[in-house]
Amino acid sequence: MLEGLLEEKIVCPDCRRKIRLEEECLICLCCGRKYPLCSGIPDFLASQEERTLSWKSADPLSYEKDLESIPYWRLRRIDRPLIDSAFGDVLEIGCGTCRLAAQIEGKKANFFGLDPMPEYLAFAKQKRGQKKLVRAKGEKLPFADASFDTVISGFYAFRYIDPAIGLPEARRVLKKGGRFTLEMLNHWLLNMIEYKNRIKYGAKPQNTLPREAGGHYDFKNFPELRRLAEGSGFRIEKIYSCPVSPVFPHLNRYLSGCYLRGKMIVYLGLDVIIELRAV
Ligand SMILES: [Zn+2]
Repeated sequence: MLEGLLEEKIVCPDCRRKIRLEEECLICLCCGRKYPLCSGIPDFLASQEERTLSWKSADPLSYEKDLESIPYWRLRRIDRPLIDSAFGDVLEIGCGTCRLAAQIEGKKANFFGLDPMPEYLAFAKQKRGQKKLVRAKGEKLPFADASFDTVISGFYAFRYIDPAIGLPEARRVLKKGGRFTLEMLNHWLLNMIEYKNRIKYGAKPQNTLPREAGGHYDFKNFPELRRLAEGSGFRIEKIYSCPVSPVFPHLNRYLSGCYLRGKMIVYLGLDVIIELRAV
């Protein structure tokens, strides 16, 4: 059985028509495609075409361990904007093990999680009791238009999603006036760190590679982001970077970037928080 609220919002990701739940699978009433339920979680990636894509397997325990290795002050700084923006029906794109779900539900919001990794979703279901989960890609959301009040994408999940496709998709499932808060890594700073590692360990800097070769989509510059966000039907409400080390709060503003006439022109922090409004 699917959670009622989830069943209400789900559509076929191909034709965006209603799908019907039948025993152990979901069937599209229009194109007839079938999507299995894996441990009760709708799986939109198990179809023939998607099976050819290679998804590296993920270990939820080492994912949680990676998170624990991040200093508390940094995690708090990147989590806070996501939790604060959550209102009404909230979709997290790239929810991983649903780390933020309990805090979001504590605000009387309805949490929905989407991730391509079945291992993370199974963990979220078993250990965190999450029910409103789907396995899908951020570029192809299996939800009806204007289904959510808030969309979030935390812990750099959006660096695995092509923003030229992922941003219009996020806008499509959002109601007008809804917010989309996402976190990206600062491309330039990341490159500097990676080059340092390259000199030190001889490792190849991943961030300079194309996405197909293991590179990532990261925050490169404001004009590019504005073009993509505004072209997708968003207005940029706020964009800021968090400083890379814990400092006195009143100094944070000056350590997060270089300003010109009150506008940040160079982002110095590693974490970039982007707050968008659906217009
Ligand atoms: Zn269909």
